[in-house]
Amino acid sequence: MNKNKLPIEGKLPTRWEIYYYTLMGNFNYWLRMLVRNQTVKTGDFQEADVGIINEIQGGDVSKNIEIIKYLSENPLNSAIIETSKIGAPIIKLGDGSMPRVMLTAGVHGNELPPQIAAINLINELNETSVNGTVYIIPFSAPKASAQNSKLYNGENLNLVADTQGTPTNTILNMALELQIDALADFHATSTHPKKDAVIYFLNIQSSKMAVYINKKSNSELMALIYNPGTLIAAANNKNIPTILCEVKSSDGVASNEAIEVSHNQMKEFLNYHGII
Ligand SMILES: [Zn+2]
Repeated sequence: MNKNKLPIEGKLPTRWEIYYYTLMGNFNYWLRMLVRNQTVKTGDFQEADVGIINEIQGGDVSKNIEIIKYLSENPLNSAIIETSKIGAPIIKLGDGSMPRVMLTAGVHGNELPPQIAAINLINELNETSVNGTVYIIPFSAPKASAQNSKLYNGENLNLVADTQGTPTNTILNMALELQIDALADFHATSTHPKKDAVIYFLNIQSSKMAVYINKKSNSELMALIYNPGTLIAAANNKNIPTILCEVKSSDGVASNEAIEVSHNQMKEFLNYHGII
């Protein structure tokens, strides 16, 4: 691929749009820091509920040794990996109450740090109580993750989220059905932008979340180059405030450092919503 060419071409945000949404996000951030609301832990500790999205083709993720070498061996992880053989696993933590948020990883199967970070996060949340409800899809396309492939059946799933029947469209429909309040899609980047980043869609809800994560995790704040087939755009177009996080990492491999960055981005997303 031409290095200077963006992998996702689309409408560039204008300078004024960037100023406006960055300002809105910053305003919200400083207000939030002034009026720190105490989160009250209500629910008791709840066990992770491992569900399955059958419409998405499964794959044996344990064949991807780069993923497996970073995962601890425990019954929960085994259940997630076994489920992935049949379809995309969806793990619910919390009692179904609001706020309800969703985290996705593995839309690109060879971007490994977020997928590992998502599994680690599930294990962490499984040991504690959360406010509201978290749905985590660590392997959005298990078949691609098993093959350590960016593409799923030759398709870039982050270009077809607006197309009926694709895995990303199925995930979007599930988010709508579950009445998700916010969504965050986690990626790794080896080309563009090739830096830890948080990308927002041009609306206030999305930019508020992104600025918060930017300030808390040192991920660079970037506006989305519009393409309707990205999960972030398709979800925002359906009124689910959504952001996309990137961690710098080579394709097909992970590192403890990159896993940690992705994990922190996930935790700040949950912090923003008062979940943890
Ligand atoms: Zn990606």
